[in-house]
Parts: sequence; structure tokens; C-alpha cells
Amino acid sequence: MEASGISMDDLLDSLRRSGLRVTPQRLEVYRVVAVSKSHPSVVEIYEAVRRIIPSISMDTVYRTLWTLSQIGLTSPVSSSGDRVRFDSNRSPHHHFICAKCGEIRDFTSGSLDDMPIPREAGDFGDVWGAHLEIRGLCRNCRKPGRNSKRKEPEHG
Ligand SMILES: [Zn+2]
Ligand SMILES: [Zn+2]
Repeated sequence: MEASGISMDDLLDSLRRSGLRVTPQRLEVYRVVAVSKSHPSVVEIYEAVRRIIPSISMDTVYRTLWTLSQIGLTSPVSSSGDRVRFDSNRSPHHHFICAKCGEIRDFTSGSLDDMPIPREAGDFGDVWGAHLEIRGLCRNCRKPGRNSKRKEPEHG
């Protein structure tokens, strides 16, 4: 499988090591997240999985995503809106998030990876990792005349 995530063997291994049953639902939900480079939302994942497993419910997809996230196979990423999206890229990376369309792009940065985690964050508990979210307007949304009308800044 062409994926930014792990191989199918590693996936089976991770599920078993976590004491989770290997179900077609879990495999397919993970596969959909892994082959997507766009950090799909729950609805997008649900629609893709339903093509393979028509009987799957949105609720099952949702629960499966959180199960996979608990064992570190996927991770939830908050987008610009209220929709949570899921990431299968487990190598250290950072995100560019478009404030308009919600697109999330991965990038890597050695200097960000080397940045020490502020002591203030550690005051809240154990720190497992850190990544940076850069927010802005993506190239598509920046193009004038594309998509819907852009909000004009108010004068006065
Ligand atoms: Zn955009
Ligand atoms: Zn990512």
C-alpha cells in the first residue's frame, strides 16, 4: 500500500501488541487515513470506508479513529474549523493549516525539531512531543477570484 503511515504488517503488529482485535473496520479506517495525504476529516474517512464496507456506521468510524489514535497509529489534528482531521504520518513533522479551506499540509523542519520544549508546558504534566501549527492562507485560497468571495476588511 502506498502510504505515509506504516506497512500492513506493522499495523497488524501494533493492533495485536495493544491487545486489539484485528477487524476489517480497523484495517480499512487506517488504510483510508494512511493513503490520504490531506489529513481527512471523519466524514471523508466515513465516506471512503463505506465504499468498501457499506454497513459501517459513522459512529464505528469515529470510535475506530480514536482507538487508532490511542495506540499512536493516527493522530487527531484540529483544523481551522470545528472539524477534527486525522493524520497517519508518524515521522516528526509540522503543519501548515489554511484558515479558509482548512487544508493541512505537512512540512519538516530540523530547526523546529531541535527547539527545546518550554518548561512552562512541562508544568502541566508529562510532555510526549510537540509540533508547530502555522496558520495562514493556502495558495489556492490566496488566488484572487477563486472559490467563493473573500471577506473584505471593514473600513472605519
Ligand atoms: Zn485554503
Ligand atoms: Zn500531518
